[in-house]
Amino acid sequence: MFRVSQIMRELIDPTPLKPARKPVAPVVIWNLIRRCNLACKHCYTTSADIDFPGELTTPEIYAVMDDLRAFKVPVLILSNDEPLLHPDIFKISQRAKDMGFYVALSSNGTRISAANIDDIAAIDYQYIGVSLDGIKDTHDRFRRMPGAFDEALRGIHLCLDKGIKVGIRFTLTQDNYSDFPALLQLMDDNGIDKFYLSHLNYGGRGNKNRKDDAHFAMTRDAMDLLFETCYEWMKAGKDREFVTGNNDADAVYFLHWVAKNFPGQAGYIKAKLEQWGGNASGVNVANIDNLGSVHPDTFWWHYDLGNVRTRPFSEIWMDTSDPLMAGLKQQPRPLEGRCAGCHYQAICNGNTRVRAAQMTGNYWAEDPGCYLTDREIAAPAGR
Ligand code: SF4
Repeated sequence: MFRVSQIMRELIDPTPLKPARKPVAPVVIWNLIRRCNLACKHCYTTSADIDFPGELTTPEIYAVMDDLRAFKVPVLILSNDEPLLHPDIFKISQRAKDMGFYVALSSNGTRISAANIDDIAAIDYQYIGVSLDGIKDTHDRFRRMPGAFDEALRGIHLCLDKGIKVGIRFTLTQDNYSDFPALLQLMDDNGIDKFYLSHLNYGGRGNKNRKDDAHFAMTRDAMDLLFETCYEWMKAGKDREFVTGNNDADAVYFLHWVAKNFPGQAGYIKAKLEQWGGNASGVNVANIDNLGSVHPDTFWWHYDLGNVRTRPFSEIWMDTSDPLMAGLKQQPRPLEGRCAGCHYQAICNGNTRVRAAQMTGNYWAEDPGCYLTDREIAAPAGR
């Protein structure tokens, strides 16, 4: 996850470079339940509004939480499928809060209602992210449910009225790209705290047409708008948070944006970005699915590292006998292709390995979703 507003703050109000703090244990994204009331086009878990067999029971979830806490996991993100459909969601959330976790909820928003907003507020979640795929018609089409947008927006308003930090989670595709400016406007008009732009896993068509590729051009335009909006709002004193996910090349693209617009600060921003260090799947980000299987992140559901029913998460996570985990934890990672020769590898860390694996069968091949030109990965922009 690339924290755009955090690094933008460094551009506007620089702080001294300090030694980087390495997290002891990962942030855990936990898909407690696969049941969902929606059937969205781009859902990575192919959910349905039914009970899925074999899911972790609440006592099993509690046992895993004990292990995670002892392992010093700092953050639990209770995630879609729709976590509010879990019958014990509030008991689990309250226990997590009482144990000292930072607890966030990722929801489709339609299950946040007048009937449960007091329960939600009582938990005091640190953050609730609500997925929006565009403005009304686009969102309803993506979610395959008329009225889904209105319900999600109602959920956002209910949270805002209770003073809960709430954000929009937007997965950028060619089919909703044109709604992106309107979503930023919606965020501004409604005083929504955070915007999370996730890139859809996309393979691209190789090196030759990177610059002309429509998807890459769209991505670049969207990132320009995101950076400019973040900068303008911050300068105007609007306290909003912007993050991106699923494409760590965003950080390198940001450095080029800084080099173009604020050349005197590019060296400092480069050093800060290197401290951040890029993709953290398998290191600082982990996923547990509804059946208890552990994955390097949410896009690796086809790759099981082990199951918390038979082995503690803390052991599974540190076991580098698994070749994928060994490579993900290696510094630098054993990257190949253009990622191996990239001047900005220390910033991006080879981006999204699952995309490389899906396209080539090789975990360490270059990321086909990198939208930077050959020149941009070679040029020393940060000097
Ligand atoms: S070439 Fe690879 S390491 Fe470099 S920015 Fe692109 S994805 Fe990241």
